[in-house]
Amino acid sequence: MEFKKDFYAYQAQTTMFASGFEVEKAEGSYIYGKDGKAYLDFVAGVSANTLGHSHPKVVNAIKEQADKYLHVMVYGEYAQEKPVALCKLLAEATPDPLEITYLVNSGAEAIDGSLKLAKRYTGREEIVSFKDSYHGNTHGALSVSGNETHKREFRPLLPMVTFIEFNNENELDKITPKTACVIMETIQGAAGFLVPHNDYLKKLKKRCEEVGALLILDEIQPGFGRTGKLFAFEHYGIVPDILVMGKGMGGGVPVGAFMSSKEIMGSLSHSPKLGHITTFGGNPLIAASSHATLKEVLDSGLMEQVKRKEELFRELLVHPKIKNINGKGLMLAVNLGTPDYTLDVAKKCMEKGLIVFWQLYRNEYMRISPPLTISEDEIRKGCQIILDVLNEN
Ligand code: PLP
Repeated sequence: MEFKKDFYAYQAQTTMFASGFEVEKAEGSYIYGKDGKAYLDFVAGVSANTLGHSHPKVVNAIKEQADKYLHVMVYGEYAQEKPVALCKLLAEATPDPLEITYLVNSGAEAIDGSLKLAKRYTGREEIVSFKDSYHGNTHGALSVSGNETHKREFRPLLPMVTFIEFNNENELDKITPKTACVIMETIQGAAGFLVPHNDYLKKLKKRCEEVGALLILDEIQPGFGRTGKLFAFEHYGIVPDILVMGKGMGGGVPVGAFMSSKEIMGSLSHSPKLGHITTFGGNPLIAASSHATLKEVLDSGLMEQVKRKEELFRELLVHPKIKNINGKGLMLAVNLGTPDYTLDVAKKCMEKGLIVFWQLYRNEYMRISPPLTISEDEIRKGCQIILDVLNEN
């Protein structure tokens, strides 16, 4: 009790309703509470625990690195084994012209870096983003996020940002020769896991090429295998000019990165030099964790299982109270009709030992984004809890 009181008293709160769930340890698909109970995790730290909790290969990589050295120098000055190995593996695992990676500390910092890079490379000032998008909470990332409620009180933000509607081809002409970049989540997260339809991404990319604007894809949620490909853009037949990643990339530690061709990235190294500076970007401990995660995602066959696991969720989650299920792979949003009901279902699931959550802007959607390592039995067990709760309430 004392500990929980301290949580509310000393750790800054940004909602009035944090659950204060007290965590003892976490392993695989489970988080263990201080109450002695095991909780099956269908949220994975909001798409961050790609390989489940404390995956042994990730933990070992961190321990081995910790025994050698921790932070030794600010970003990019010294050649350190793990960040180099991570960037090289990313280059090998992604299509051309993506070849060089800038490692940073969080998704939002990676978004900020990608916007700076696009402005610097094109020499243009205008940015096009999407209504209902979420790109993070620094001033830069918030500026290109498309939800007014979360932005209003923090203005002034970046000027010259235009918001267009996701999947609406008729708005592509708002991308003009003055546009430095278009920034888009390949799958819109906070809006309830909306996927691009009808070759929308190809049409968007074509428009960007026509006017010389760079396409930035935010893959902070779908990246690292969550949709069954390493990055979700691989489903849609295009390659972005700048790729942004984070969350699941870390395997449970804080990280972000943006990736592009050498030509584009090169513009951060001159006029002015040091176009983006970060102390802990490329930190060896974080890079060791991320490298082990990437290797495991690529080598383990987990990505090949994603489609079957998605199908199983969709087969099992059939109920009159479920209106529809959005999303792709292991990022699914289950529409339960109203925010209040969804919150209530999430609470009741927790009481029965299952962690689910809701989507940031569309609270009527229940979030399902488990670790890729979740087993089919665990999917069955968790879905049964959801169905029980829907039946009883
Ligand atoms: N972009 C997307 C699509 C996200 O889901 C998030 C985080 O939820 C971010 C950016 C920001 O990442 P971070 O919270 O690591 O700054």
